[in-house]
Amino acid sequence: MMDRRTLLKTGLAVPLLSVSATPEASWPGRIRRIGQLNFTEHDPVELNVEAWAGYWASLKVDVVLVSVTGIIAYYQTKVPFHRRSRYLGDRDLFGECCAAAKKRGIRVIARTSPDLNWEDAVKAHPEWFMRDEEGRAMAHHEDPRLFPTCTFSTYMTDYMPAILREVNSLYDVDGFFTNGWPPYGAFPACFCDQCRRLPKSGTPEYWDKLNERVFSLWKLYDSIAKEKKAESFFFANIGRAIHASVNLKQVGATAQWFQADNQGRANDAPMWGAALQGRVCGAVQKGKMSTLVTGAWSTCDPRWRNVHKSVPEAQMWLSQTVASGMVPYLHLIGAETGLGEDHRMLEPARQFFNWTAQHDPHFTNKRSIANIAVVMGQRTQLFYAPPQGTSPSQYMDGLYYALLEGRFLFDFVHEDDLAAETLRKYAAVLLPNIALLGDEQCRQLRAYADAGGSLLGTFETGLYDDRNQRRSEFGLADVFGIRKAGEVIGTNGNAFYARIERRHPILEGFTNTNLLPGAEYRLPVAPVNGPVLTVVPGYVAYPPELSYPTQPHTTEPAVVLTENGNSRRAWFPGDIDRTSWRTGHTDLSQLLQNTIAWLTRGDAPARVEGEGLVETFAWETEAGFAVHLLNYTNPNLHRGWLRRFYPIGAQKVTIKIPGEVKRVQLLRAGVDVPFRASGGAVEFTVPGVVDYEVAALS
Ligand SMILES: [Zn+2]
Repeated sequence: MMDRRTLLKTGLAVPLLSVSATPEASWPGRIRRIGQLNFTEHDPVELNVEAWAGYWASLKVDVVLVSVTGIIAYYQTKVPFHRRSRYLGDRDLFGECCAAAKKRGIRVIARTSPDLNWEDAVKAHPEWFMRDEEGRAMAHHEDPRLFPTCTFSTYMTDYMPAILREVNSLYDVDGFFTNGWPPYGAFPACFCDQCRRLPKSGTPEYWDKLNERVFSLWKLYDSIAKEKKAESFFFANIGRAIHASVNLKQVGATAQWFQADNQGRANDAPMWGAALQGRVCGAVQKGKMSTLVTGAWSTCDPRWRNVHKSVPEAQMWLSQTVASGMVPYLHLIGAETGLGEDHRMLEPARQFFNWTAQHDPHFTNKRSIANIAVVMGQRTQLFYAPPQGTSPSQYMDGLYYALLEGRFLFDFVHEDDLAAETLRKYAAVLLPNIALLGDEQCRQLRAYADAGGSLLGTFETGLYDDRNQRRSEFGLADVFGIRKAGEVIGTNGNAFYARIERRHPILEGFTNTNLLPGAEYRLPVAPVNGPVLTVVPGYVAYPPELSYPTQPHTTEPAVVLTENGNSRRAWFPGDIDRTSWRTGHTDLSQLLQNTIAWLTRGDAPARVEGEGLVETFAWETEAGFAVHLLNYTNPNLHRGWLRRFYPIGAQKVTIKIPGEVKRVQLLRAGVDVPFRASGGAVEFTVPGVVDYEVAALS
């Protein structure tokens, strides 16, 4: 019997019978490409149905989403308050599109939108709609003729089922989808009679009720989908990555199709939003299908729905989608003049989709071979109140960037999924200020560390339970060997420093200095024996005459490092992940990278060496193994959009693989490369990467 580390080295750490190793057998698991032209009310007189279906067929999509909707009907509905498009006349646009797609062997998902309805419905069914504190129906912020419906109302159990059943009775559809539901972004604040009986919106108690309602409706709609045929199903709109409003673990347990509505980056977001979303989907879907909607439209703020974003930007979003294990999905809005007035994205998308179609077995993943897990902390994202002026997402941003800079292979795991079965494949679990951790989650992390796993924690990790109740001591105090010794200290002028007390592998490369930057905020912990870094408290930054330490030396640790058998543990009392992101300070990112390398003993299932900022994924695939390289070396990395790509040079890849490798193909370059196999590892060089490369090992 090999121990866990030997298994990691051979890349066999996951039992082959685990859920994640079993590809989804049902038809959504076989979908490789998806297309959608989102209808506007005007499209019944604009859309060229044949050109529409022909375009999607030329992209080799398996499925199209076609609008039934709940706001504007595109067929001759008889459901009261399902208002037909004023341009529909006596046509059946939905039926025509459905037939045109089916004729080409493309499946159809009926797209509905339960989130809004018109004033006549408000008058007839006041109970369907969200209410403000004065009890008034809330007009939609963009078009005041529309009113948001309430998730807890009978709109969801009467009106929506009537539409689903009507569509099922009239057409051969393969499934149903709800756009605009479950509630997206912030929790709804509704004061209707139903909602007044619920816990206060924004609390964990409200979240319980929201999850209960969403998944009971999900089950209801799924059962209605199946009334027509057993293989039909329902799925809802999710997205927003780690900020999703419903419990993602439950989504993973429920969804055959994870529809991530995260269509592109806006303004000053970093490049990797799609890849990050893919990691979220991977964590909860466990090998079941997930797809990321790529909006061809301008996803910036303000938006332009009918003009496309830059082609390199959209293409990089699609590349991240497939690299991170999701199915690519192209989304166009509006069919003015036949297929929309902006055709600039049509051909590049066709080329990209056709390229993936040539290599489907290499994009059909069995499992990630990463050996590092990052806990995504959904409750922390939803309920944690970080120090003033900070955002819960910045802790992840900083760690994510450090992981990319260090070229680590990592997965996300959900905080409700920390059992040994999930964590045993990982050499280290990272907790980027996962402030909210329940007793059970702490117990699972403790068990993981006791079994030899390594841990990184920062700042207020585990200081709150899963109900957002503050603990008197860190939930993982014993695991990290720490004791809370005060309250959060912020910065006024110079932030605190970390004084180097002794050499250690986490300080690799830091020479010629006694000090490193600390962080903007810290929660002091009690002194430990033989500290590696100690805190030099912050002081005045201006005037420079006063910019010197009044207390140059303390015993307060700036990092606590412990070892217990195979398990290594690193605790940073400062929010170094977030401060690294906010300041861009290279020392902080380097310190995180060094620490992760120490935790994992420098061991990695695959390594990619070369110049440039690259995001890497490595998968066991249907065909063998694949290493995906996304080239983010671009002046528009941190602020969109990409104007062009900046190619990088040779990347040396080493991957540990059981068994024999017969061929290494570069799927973008369209060439084979020589390789060398020895001692369970395969080595080869990718001569260069323009935007994206996939090294496929058969
Ligand atoms: Zn309500």
